[in-house]
Amino acid sequence: MKAHDGMYIDGAWRPAAGTDTIEVVNPVDEQVIGRVPAGTAEDVDAAVRAARAAFPAWAATTPAERAARLAALRDILVARKDEIAETVTAELGSPLPFSQAVHAGVPIAVAGSYAELAATYAFEERVGNSTVYQEPVGVVGAITPWNYPLHQIVAKVAPALAAGCTVVLKPAEDTPLTAQLFAETVAEAGIPAGVFNLVTGLGPVAGQALAEHPDVDLVSFTGSTAVGKRIGATAGAAVKRVALELGGKSANVILPSADLAKAVGVGVANVMSNSGQTCSAWTRMLVHSARYDEAVELAAAAAEKYGDRIGPVVSAKQQARVRSYIDKGVTEGARLVAGGPESPREQGYFVSPTVFADVTPEMTIAQEEIFGPVLSIIRYEDEADALRIANGTVYGLAGAVWAGDEAEAVAFARRLDTGQVDINGGRFNPLAPFGGYKQSGVGRELGSHGLSEYLQTKSLQF
Ligand code: NAP
Ligand code: MG
Repeated sequence: MKAHDGMYIDGAWRPAAGTDTIEVVNPVDEQVIGRVPAGTAEDVDAAVRAARAAFPAWAATTPAERAARLAALRDILVARKDEIAETVTAELGSPLPFSQAVHAGVPIAVAGSYAELAATYAFEERVGNSTVYQEPVGVVGAITPWNYPLHQIVAKVAPALAAGCTVVLKPAEDTPLTAQLFAETVAEAGIPAGVFNLVTGLGPVAGQALAEHPDVDLVSFTGSTAVGKRIGATAGAAVKRVALELGGKSANVILPSADLAKAVGVGVANVMSNSGQTCSAWTRMLVHSARYDEAVELAAAAAEKYGDRIGPVVSAKQQARVRSYIDKGVTEGARLVAGGPESPREQGYFVSPTVFADVTPEMTIAQEEIFGPVLSIIRYEDEADALRIANGTVYGLAGAVWAGDEAEAVAFARRLDTGQVDINGGRFNPLAPFGGYKQSGVGRELGSHGLSEYLQTKSLQF
C-alpha cells in the first residue's frame, strides 16, 4: 500500500511538524503495511489556517461550481474504486467483495447525491417580507472512525463542500491510508487548495486539538459515545456547532405475524456484515415467546454458516474488547448457541460469529455497544413488552420491524425512539437522514438533512 509521509494541507503534501508515526496493520495477517505521520496540534493549526484562508473564496463560489467539483470527485472515486476497495480491505480487513460493493460503492453514491443536491438545493427562499439565505457555517473539523473509513469521510466532506464550508479531517488511526487516498481524489477533482485538508494522527492528540481549535466553527464527529460526550462538551463551552454520530444498540423487532425465516436470516446477516462493526447494526433480536425457540435455531444455523468468512475485526484491541463482552454474556447467564470467545484462526483479529439466546434486557450484552459479530436474542411476551425492551437502552440509532402487514410494522416503528427503521427488510437509502435519538447522537447525515448541518441562516427583511 502506498502511504504518504506528509499531511495534505493547503493543496500539497507537506512534512509533518513532528517525527512520530503510526503503523498501519493488516488485521488479517497482523503485518505492518504502512506508516503515516502522527500529527500534533501544530499540524492541526496549519491545516485550520489553510482552511480558514480558503473559506471566503470557496463560500463565494456558485452552487453550480461546487456541484461540478463534487461531480468530478464522484467520477474519480468511480475511476479509482478498485484501489479504494483494496486499501480498505488491507487496513480494515473486510472481505474484498464487501469492500467493493459497500466501502467503495456507497461513497460514490453519496458523493453523487451531493453533486446533485449542490446544484438543486434552495440556498435562498422568500418568507413573507424576508429573504432567507442558507450560508456555509465556516471551517469544519471532521473526526471519523475506522468502521466505514471512506463512507464516514465522504458523508461529512461532501455536504460540507456542497454547503461552501472548508474542512480539516482527522481520520481514525487504524485506517489512515483510505483517508490519504481520498485526499488524492480531492486534489485530482480540482478542488482548490485549502478547501480540504488532512491531518493523520491519534485521537487524544490531533483529534482533540482539532475539536478544541478556536478557529473551527463546527465539529462533526462519528465514533464512540464516550469521546462524543467530551467533544460535545468542548463544543458547547465554545458555543460551536457540533454534530455527533455515536453508538447504537438497535433492535430487530420480529412481530408474531412476520415471515420468521426471512426476518432472522436478514437480521443475522445485518449483524455479521462488516464483522459487526456497524453503529446501526441490529444487535438485539426481539422475538415473541411462541416463536422464540424456532428463531434461536434459525439464527444459530445462519451464524455457523459464516465461519471466518466475515473477516476479522479491525485491531487486536477491538478483538480483545469483543471477546471480553462474549465472556461477560456467558458470566451473566446468557446461552451461547453459536460462536464463542475463542478465535477461529491462529493469526489475525478474528472473532467467531456469535449468537446468544436467553438474553434478558438488562444484561450488559443487551445494553452496551459491542461492535463485533455478536447477536443477542431476547424474548418478549406481547407488543407492549417488545416496545419497552426495544426502547430500553440509552441509544436510538436504528432498528428494524417485521410483520405480515406493512401497516402493522409501520405503526410499531412509529413508537420506537430511534432515528431510522427498516420495514420488512427495506433497503439502505443514501438520501435518507441518518442519525440518532437519545445518546446515539445529535444531528443528521446524508441527503438534504446532512447538507443543512453545514449551513446557517440569515434573513433580510424588506
Ligand atoms: P473513538 O475513539 O471514538 O474513535 C473515533 C474517532 O475519534 C477516531 O478518529 C479517534 O482517533 C478520535 N478520537 C479518539 N479520542 C479522541 C479525543 N479525545 N478527541 C478527539 N478525537 C478523538 O472510537 P474507537 O476507539 O475507534 O472505538 C471504540 C468504540 O467506539 C467501538 O468499540 C464502538 O463501540 C464505538 N464506535 C462507534 C462508531 C460509530 O460509527 N458510531 C465507530 C467507531 C467506533 P483514534 O482513531 O486515534 O482513536
Ligand atoms: Mg480510539
